[in-house]
Amino acid sequence: MRAVQYRTIGGDPEVVEIPTPEPGPGQVRLRVTAAGLCHSDSFVMSLPAEQYTYGLPLTLGHEGAGVVDALGEGVTGVELGASMAVYGPWGCGQCHACARGAENYCTRAAALGIAPPGLGAPGALAEYLIVDDVRHLVPLGDLDPVASVSLTDAGLTPYHAIVSSLAALPAGSTAVVIGAGGLGHVAIQILRAITGATVIALDVNEEKLMLARQVGAHHAIPSDDSAVEAIRSLTGGVGAQAVFDIVGAPATLEIARQTVAIDGVVQIVGIGGGVLPTGFFSTPFGASVRAPYWGTRTELMEVLDLARSGAIHVEVERYSMDQAPEAYRKLHDGTLRGRAVVVPGD
Ligand code: NAD
Ligand code: ZN
Ligand code: ZN
Repeated sequence: MRAVQYRTIGGDPEVVEIPTPEPGPGQVRLRVTAAGLCHSDSFVMSLPAEQYTYGLPLTLGHEGAGVVDALGEGVTGVELGASMAVYGPWGCGQCHACARGAENYCTRAAALGIAPPGLGAPGALAEYLIVDDVRHLVPLGDLDPVASVSLTDAGLTPYHAIVSSLAALPAGSTAVVIGAGGLGHVAIQILRAITGATVIALDVNEEKLMLARQVGAHHAIPSDDSAVEAIRSLTGGVGAQAVFDIVGAPATLEIARQTVAIDGVVQIVGIGGGVLPTGFFSTPFGASVRAPYWGTRTELMEVLDLARSGAIHVEVERYSMDQAPEAYRKLHDGTLRGRAVVVPGD
């Protein structure tokens, strides 16, 4: 089968021919219908050899959807031909976190060598994908896989962050979203759908600010030296009850620090290399800082339900597998609108 792999440190992703995998006991093989490209892939491919822990060659793609194509020994509960989304942050299935569906916070995955597809295990940027367990499949039903695949990360990750701050975001509150890219443009829609907050979006790119307004941001402003003053002024000096920093760079975390309200929360979602010290000489009284990772299985079901209701959608740029390296270049350069999705069948 064909697959998109990261093969050498510092190299570009390559389209290669590799053996089609067979599902082992308990595993499910999907024929991939869509796979999304995430900025975390760029981050992984930017790491120097001494920090790179994902194995080589690595078949990329941690946002996956597909049709059940073959069942390993002992697998029951799924029908051949069913259209599925893949829950990516695979855990052990046994610990307390996994038992409540929060496999993203599995306490044993690292020790057991369990890694998500595309971030250690072979990923979804291939014609076929092996999923380790049926519990990591969520039926898509009538949802279009190409339009929906990125809900498994670009939807699920902001949803998980927003749900944990729900109590802070009643009518009259303010939420700031820094970075209106793949995750950010869905974050804005989720905030509009499930909270009463006024949404202020920040980005460095004028087209992304336009997209932010189109998907429901009340205000979209440049992410520069003027941002702190602008947010202060839009909130009557109070600041934002929740800041979702989906860039996570030193400059954006400084904006977050200066604009989070008293007793507010900063959610660091982006992996931009920044850290935010918390304490009496940094953040306002009562403010908390959290760095959430991905989301839970039940939250993925909820995100898909939100899409089914029409409340949220992903702006998709569609690419063939041959075009995947080009799509990664655009992701790296910041010139994509919404999410790039690769369709192996194209
Ligand atoms: P993306 O490239 O689609 O979007 C990034 C956006 O940030 C772009 O619109 C870009 O213009 C904007 N931006 C860049 N610098 C900025 C700045 N200084 N101020 C404001 N906006 C700025 O990326 P994505 O796929 O949406 O991922 C966003 C981040 O989230 C990445 O760091 C990624 O690694 C991370 N991520 C984290 C998790 C998690 O579980 N915590 C999950 C997925 C992605
Ligand atoms: Zn991701
Ligand atoms: Zn576990």
